[in-house]
Amino acid sequence: MKFCDMPYERIDVKAATAALDAAAEHLAGAKTLGEAEAAFEEREKIITHVHTMSTIAYIRHTVNTLDEFYEKENDFNDENAPLIEQSEQKFTEAMLSSPLRPQLEEKYGKLIFVNAELSRKCFSPEIIPDLQEENRLSSEYQKLIASAQIEFGGKTLSLAQLGAYKENSERIIRHAAYKAESGFYMAHADELDRIFDSLVKCRTRIAKKLGFGTFTELAYCRQTRNCYNAVDVAAFRSRIVRDIVPVVCRLKEMQKKRTGIDDMKIYDDLFAFKEGNPKPDGSPQDILEAGKTMYERMSPETGEFINFMYDNALMDVLSAKGKAAGGYCTEILEYKSPFIFSNFNGTSGDVDVLTHEAGHAFAYYSVRDKMELCDQLSPTMESCEVHSMSMEFFAWPWHELFYGSDAVRSRFMHLESALVFLPYGTMVDEFQHIVYDSPELTPAERDGRCRALESKYRPYMDFGDVEFYSDGRGWQRQLHIYLYPFYYIDYCLAQTAALEFWSMSRSDYKDAWRRYLHFVSLGGTKSFKELCAAAGIDDPFGERALNGVAQTANSWLDANG
Ligand code: ZN
Repeated sequence: MKFCDMPYERIDVKAATAALDAAAEHLAGAKTLGEAEAAFEEREKIITHVHTMSTIAYIRHTVNTLDEFYEKENDFNDENAPLIEQSEQKFTEAMLSSPLRPQLEEKYGKLIFVNAELSRKCFSPEIIPDLQEENRLSSEYQKLIASAQIEFGGKTLSLAQLGAYKENSERIIRHAAYKAESGFYMAHADELDRIFDSLVKCRTRIAKKLGFGTFTELAYCRQTRNCYNAVDVAAFRSRIVRDIVPVVCRLKEMQKKRTGIDDMKIYDDLFAFKEGNPKPDGSPQDILEAGKTMYERMSPETGEFINFMYDNALMDVLSAKGKAAGGYCTEILEYKSPFIFSNFNGTSGDVDVLTHEAGHAFAYYSVRDKMELCDQLSPTMESCEVHSMSMEFFAWPWHELFYGSDAVRSRFMHLESALVFLPYGTMVDEFQHIVYDSPELTPAERDGRCRALESKYRPYMDFGDVEFYSDGRGWQRQLHIYLYPFYYIDYCLAQTAALEFWSMSRSDYKDAWRRYLHFVSLGGTKSFKELCAAAGIDDPFGERALNGVAQTANSWLDANG
């Protein structure tokens, strides 16, 4: 069904929560596997419907924020989500304490039970006031960042608008943009320190109340880390330093030669090519057409998928008046349809929508008829990002369709940004471990730790006279550190797995693709490590993965650099 024809009705929250509560009671009272399965089916039907309606309202609201009807519907769903959540938790409780659990694990897989155990550890009514404080502090940070009004070149700019000038081809403009950015953050340094310090204390308090030693431990549960712990992550970080940092240093040397800037400073870091970054050819319509051709040629599976998306108008990617900013991929469960939202703007970001977001959409499309429960559709976050980040690499043979003669440079830029990201993302992760393992550190001590981490992960970086960064405060502009603690390493793990698929595809594209399809086909039924093992790629935490990636990257750069 076309997206525009999908009917919408407001959810009857009372009826839905009552039905969910009844399903939880039926599960708790189930004497046979058949009765328990019937309770799971009841729950599935309600959840699927609630999810479908709130997703349709959300999409229609973001597609046209001026539409008052869907704005109200979206607000209504936001307000009522906690009530639904509460009833869902009753079902989770019944699931975890069911005497039939062994049979249910047999039927639905152990993983959804493991994940439910982790999420149960993250909540107790006692912490509600602290959670509210955590939200309040997070919004305070968001408001402060959104309030930025920076005078620059005769204009008043937001931080996002200023960002474009940080990549300007004129060095003097880039430098001025960094100085202006630094000025804003330094002017609010005390406030940023206070908000973060309060967040660290608040999160630590929550963790202690829930019986954890530190917030780090709680964060691993919040992130549903069901197959690795902080020790594994520390080992991963040290392999990034050993294997990837040298490759990035090599890339930075190449950048110096390419751009002719001998004394590279932080404000030259994003200046990749003298002639500007590679840009896709043609109109947004041409890019969409190229995406269709690419997926049709890539494999029968992707061909079927992309035609389903286009035939059912499941992509809204052109900019329009009233459209919300940003981009996302979501699923409309009752119609078994993925949906992609974006705002094309003529940059390589448009192509990324067709490779990255479509990778997420393809993963859902591949398993939509295969799973009994919606909980089995998607794996944890790092694995979902493997779906999308790997697809970006599998798209390489078709870059000519998007970039024409700029395709060679576009592949180089993609690989470069993937590699440069790894040490940065890992540094963000180590910083957070330090901060939450020692919550008593003062703001100045935190900045000192940040400076030390910079020289470990980005030894090539010279901050020059840009105070905000040279003081070790650069972490304060990383939104995730304030809002989504410990979230960042997921991207690094996913990028590692994606680079492994890329590395394999260099020697045998078909075989790499077959492995990727298998990874995707397992949906959310396996943990991250199990998915990697099933696809036959090296464990990203292990001794070999990053070393192999670095070797392939170096030989690729020898041939193409
Ligand atoms: Zn993604």
